[in-house]
Amino acid sequence: MKIICIGRNYVEHALELKNEVPSEPVWFMKPDTALLAKDKDFFLPDFSKDIHHEVELVLRICKEGKHIAEEFASKYYDQVTVGLDFTARDLQQRQKEKGLPWEPAKAFDWSAPVGDFIPMDKIKNSGDIAFSLKKNGTVVQEGQSSLMIFSFEKMIASVSRYITLRKGDFIFTGTPKGVGRIEAGDKLEAFLEGENLLSVNVR
Ligand code: MG
Repeated sequence: MKIICIGRNYVEHALELKNEVPSEPVWFMKPDTALLAKDKDFFLPDFSKDIHHEVELVLRICKEGKHIAEEFASKYYDQVTVGLDFTARDLQQRQKEKGLPWEPAKAFDWSAPVGDFIPMDKIKNSGDIAFSLKKNGTVVQEGQSSLMIFSFEKMIASVSRYITLRKGDFIFTGTPKGVGRIEAGDKLEAFLEGENLLSVNVR
């Protein structure tokens, strides 16, 4: 399986990192070694002093497709949850300044904890899914899918022009504003429609 991540999909987050608001989805990938097994702690890596949390809605692809038209894209995902796109912001900044790939800052081991998936048909308000992240009990990020620049369908159509999507692939759909540094001892809890689907202890 593969993990595709959309960047800069919320206006206020793009602006907080002083990025342009994109006209086409910005995306990158993480390998399956980025997944963090449920109930495992996240260990801060030694190559960064500034690991950030980015809470995101995560889609699970349910059938293979290439060149998927936007109007049919909703048939290609069937489950959703919340995940964390852990980012080495100091490394990412250096890579961006040099025009180099983001993988060292984004694709490292355990950089993609993913919560328990919920079937889309169990989500009451699937057109505007609310999600949030608490750090040590305080809400630090809140988002809703209606504020995305690119819809789930637009992302799937755009990415599948380049890459065949397969059953079991994940798409991280971008983070709202409020990203910030994590430290050893932090407890992160991510929520979808008020339900806690993911908890990670930082070590
Ligand atoms: Mg992200």
